[in-house]
Amino acid sequence: MTQNNPNIPFIDLAAQQKLLRPQIEAAISKVLDSGHYIMGQEVTDLEAKLAEFTGAKHALVCSSGTSALVLAMMVLGVKKGDAVFVPTFTFIATAEAVILAGGTPVMVDVRKDTFLMDDEDLKKAILWAKEQGLTPKLVVPVDLFGLAADYDKISAIAKENGMQVVCDACQSFGAAVGNKRIGTLGAISATSFFPAKPLGCYGDGGALFTDSDENLELMKSFRVHGMGADRYENVRIGINGRLDTIQAAILLVKMTVLEDELKKRDEVAAKYREGIKKAIHQHIPQGYKSAWAQYSMLVENRDKVQAALKEKGIPTMIYYPLPIHRQKAYEMFAIGREFPVSDMLSQKILSVPMHPYLDSETQGYIIDAMNSTLA
Ligand SMILES: *Cc1c(COP(=O)(O)O)cnc(C)c1O
Repeated sequence: MTQNNPNIPFIDLAAQQKLLRPQIEAAISKVLDSGHYIMGQEVTDLEAKLAEFTGAKHALVCSSGTSALVLAMMVLGVKKGDAVFVPTFTFIATAEAVILAGGTPVMVDVRKDTFLMDDEDLKKAILWAKEQGLTPKLVVPVDLFGLAADYDKISAIAKENGMQVVCDACQSFGAAVGNKRIGTLGAISATSFFPAKPLGCYGDGGALFTDSDENLELMKSFRVHGMGADRYENVRIGINGRLDTIQAAILLVKMTVLEDELKKRDEVAAKYREGIKKAIHQHIPQGYKSAWAQYSMLVENRDKVQAALKEKGIPTMIYYPLPIHRQKAYEMFAIGREFPVSDMLSQKILSVPMHPYLDSETQGYIIDAMNSTLA
């Protein structure tokens, strides 16, 4: 079927919806009946489920991954003159959140093998930031494509420099290091429920995780305009960062299949790793379990490969064509530093279809197409 009429989705949200549609419609109807569109029961229920799933003491849902990052930085007190270290090879929101929270993003290069924040370059970036008169405040590693960053090494460097770690886990919900799931690997973790993420809703959504009671109280306040004892007493400057009850209801249904989906993503990833020969695959260190938000690899002659795959009806994506230090609005934050690995990755990275419902026939077709193009 794929050979004659290839119509391969990059991420197949329809397959999952087909599986869950009756439950999702029932969950939405229940919210419509209740009339509690804001902070309804499903919001609290989802927070309990998310905490249980991750092993974090507290989970707090919010309006997007970006607002989760902004809220995390507000909670940890980012202010003018503070340096917040972010990888330059990431989605723009990681650095954008720093600026929205009032800090200065300081870019860090990534590793060639894992594509994640490079601890050696982090040390250099800290020295550079101090020379610029900035105060090291936070490190925000990104779990790119679903793989947790090297939090052991990065947390040690952060501690030596009096900094805390915020995990940008927007792509890695469900991932783990050993027996610890993301949500428990930094002072605060931020994730996204954008539809295409490993756990996605039908709109925008996100969540924060922490083991600290104090952080939780601050998160709750910042999420609702810096509220104090009640909504109309405002003790700090916050945002409107709530998650809609309808989205919470949808996520509760989707969580019932999440474990199974993570397992299926892992199987799909293993087949790509085994099957695609002449590409450099993202290195997954021993004991790490990726959530496989994307399956990305490095290829030579990427334009040619993309065109050949397109010819065969196979969609591919480039995450990301421009590292943050090359984005017009952000290049001023990186003057005088260089990021050779991120520059190289942005030239060679290529993502192929990845989702739990990718059948083995279609995947075999993609693998064969990759191998014949790369040969
Ligand atoms: C998706 C994403 C975000 C932002 O999440 P939204 O829910 O789209 O706001 C932040 N960081 C990374 C690495 C992401 O992939």
